[in-house]
Amino acid sequence: MWFRRDLRVRDNPALYAAAAAGDVLPLFVLDPALWAPSGDVRRGYLVRALRALDGSLDGHLHVRRGDPTTEVQRAARSAGAEQVQVAADFGPYGSRRDEQVERALADAGIELVRTGSPYAVAPGRVRKADGTPYAVFTPFSRAWSEHGWPAPATASSKPHWATADGATDLPTEPDLGDLRLPEVGEEAARRCWSAFLDGPLGDYADARNRPDLDGTSRVSHHLKWGELHPRTLLADLARRRGKGAATFRTELAWREFYADVLWHAPASARDYLRPQLARMPYEPPGTLFQAWTQGRTGYPFVDAGMRQLLGEGWLHNRLRMVVASFLVKDLHVEWHHGAHHFMRWLRDGDLASNQHGWQWTAGSGTDAAPYFRVFNPVSQGQRFDPDGDYVRRYVPELRHLPGASAHEPWEHADGYAQGYPQRIVDHAAERREALARYEQVRRG
Ligand code: FAD
Repeated sequence: MWFRRDLRVRDNPALYAAAAAGDVLPLFVLDPALWAPSGDVRRGYLVRALRALDGSLDGHLHVRRGDPTTEVQRAARSAGAEQVQVAADFGPYGSRRDEQVERALADAGIELVRTGSPYAVAPGRVRKADGTPYAVFTPFSRAWSEHGWPAPATASSKPHWATADGATDLPTEPDLGDLRLPEVGEEAARRCWSAFLDGPLGDYADARNRPDLDGTSRVSHHLKWGELHPRTLLADLARRRGKGAATFRTELAWREFYADVLWHAPASARDYLRPQLARMPYEPPGTLFQAWTQGRTGYPFVDAGMRQLLGEGWLHNRLRMVVASFLVKDLHVEWHHGAHHFMRWLRDGDLASNQHGWQWTAGSGTDAAPYFRVFNPVSQGQRFDPDGDYVRRYVPELRHLPGASAHEPWEHADGYAQGYPQRIVDHAAERREALARYEQVRRG
């Protein structure tokens, strides 16, 4: 059983299929092609998650380092395996890699078997009546719901473990400084999900947009690493009534939609899905970009978000949209630069959700918010953090400003008394500039 983005034992059909076929070598390959470009946050998370998985596997996780094309075959031969079970990977790199591994295994007379995927419905399955993919979220979400998904898988017996030569130790955890990771591993994921079901789910439909409240599930990293499967969540939601459960199901559909879009258009991980916007004049990522990464733009809501990202490796969805819009439409920097920064810092960094979340905000993605809809970083803060609590939590230089006044230090005589930076751009002027640039592209 080759684990990749499915670091769990429960509700794991590929693991159960392996166990039904014989003794199981649980394998993880540290692939330099994925390890090297990951930031320390994801590396740190992965090391902890693998340690937790090893615990759930009674200490039998077999870790190797190197190119999976050779390492999976070596491990399988050493264990005397006839099959290698995986959950199918639908990402651009993962699917290519799996084809190569499949060929290398076939040369050794070993079969690669794909059982399940990290999604409730595998990318590519939900299509329009004419067989083409959905380009817009709402009809996709409806068709996805109608398509349905299997119930969580259950194990018929505990696996018997096999062994192999050539194992390596887990890497040491990178030093994350002051960044705090949450509890990691399948058991922690289950606890996190149960606490959400018994608490915030009821108000989720309203509270999910409020970063000052703890109103969302914070399971995105558990889903990213497969410590939870969406099928498990959907089965629990089906037993609940109310708006909260229905809204949460729709949010999960976004994750499935973006995976589907990326599968149909793998180049959209890098290229503009709407090529028209690639012709827009953009600014290179210079000192203003640096100020954005450090949370020093002078716009309190944006800065609180960027500092939460650096401090926790996570960011509320509302803030992801606001800071992304600020980078693209106020600083006129291309979305790739922001997406890259997010992937370096997010513990839930997921290629499909991240790149398409960015493209959506930049106006170049599927089902895009029209380019001319520009988020106002001040009124967004006043609306979604009405008492300024979120801003004060992450921006100490504004803690002396009570209530909503934390959103507008320029309106108060002592607004800058604690060293908060001045605004690096004038939002109203940059909004006009963004619209002028868009108009230029639209006219061709
Ligand atoms: P909840 O509100 O509790 O939502 C539950 C789950 O639904 C999430 O865990 C996630 O799996 C899914 N979900 C919710 N909203 C979205 C969405 N808009 N798109 C896709 N899935 C969604 N999500 C990631 O998992 N990884 C990323 O790298 C990522 N990058 C993003 C970048 C941008 C610019 C934007 C706008 C959004 C991004 N998202 C990403 C989506 C979303 O912001 C996070 O999934 C969410 O904030 C995670 O917190 P949560 O688990 O508490 O969310």
